[in-house]
Amino acid sequence: MIIDGKKEAEIIRREVQEEILNLKSKINKTPSLTVILIGDYAPSQIYVKNKEKSAKEVGINSEVVRYPKNVSEKEILKKIDDLNKDKNISGILVQLPLPDQISKEKIINAIHPSKDVDGFNPVNVGNLSSGYKSIVPCTPLGCLLLLKKIEPQLSGKHAVIIGRSNLNGKPMAQLLLKEDCTVTIVHSKTKNLKDECLKADILVAAVGVPHLIKKDWVKNNVIVIDVGINKVGEKIVGDVKFDEVKDKTKAITPVPGGVGPMTIACLLKNTLECFKAHQI
Ligand code: NAP
Repeated sequence: MIIDGKKEAEIIRREVQEEILNLKSKINKTPSLTVILIGDYAPSQIYVKNKEKSAKEVGINSEVVRYPKNVSEKEILKKIDDLNKDKNISGILVQLPLPDQISKEKIINAIHPSKDVDGFNPVNVGNLSSGYKSIVPCTPLGCLLLLKKIEPQLSGKHAVIIGRSNLNGKPMAQLLLKEDCTVTIVHSKTKNLKDECLKADILVAAVGVPHLIKKDWVKNNVIVIDVGINKVGEKIVGDVKFDEVKDKTKAITPVPGGVGPMTIACLLKNTLECFKAHQI
């Protein structure tokens, strides 16, 4: 089975849109998201444009605040402070990567946890790893929602996650632990990567190496979630050799059209959650 991320993302977007309409009719307020974009890095421009468009489509007031590449860290921290205090703002997102003069750590720490739609602030990371309610990073949240569509009961499954980034691998591991999976995280220093992958009932690849996972790296009936987005020539491919792996799987996400669309849908979902939390 090929998992249709576009379709699942569309369902989430519709649910978010309906809830926003419903809330608007009750309290006459709508969520608002401010995205801070620094510099002119082309992929960031595209990501932010897509986020803004998707937010507007579901009824989120979305604003992009742009700064030149040489903006000071102080100016960005001041802007974040203003947005933290602004009762009309539900969510704040600073598009990564940042230019060298700006500390990613300071920026992530500065965003108030209740407005941290990316779920990167250490308070949210800590809550997630403690098993408490938290804002969850959008891509791993999207992966979990796809997985649960295929396998609502994940308890006892052996999940192998390739990659240990704060963005993907680590929060994915926490989410799957919360689902009572047995979790293995592997990375670039892991010995016998293939043997570890062969143990997986669920394999999540968040590596950034095109076609790393081959047919003989997975057992039959595995569920494969491919987070990777890699440009090979003019083509976008995942971390998994989709064509040869797919026939061995119970379900697999394609690239593109798998995890990617879920990421933005989950950003909209997180923005709505932040908005609702501020109304209490
Ligand atoms: P990252 O920060 O570069 O982390 C990559 C991880 O993979 C690291 O933990 C690294 O190990 C590990 N790794 C690298 N080469 C390896 C190898 N040969 N064998 C085993 N492990 C290896 O990347 P990321 O930000 O998590 O992103 C991963 C991929 O997901 C990228 O292709 C990115 O474009 C894509 N992505 C997709 C979405 C989406 O919406 N679908 C969102 C975000 C990112 P070490 O820790 O030892 O270095």
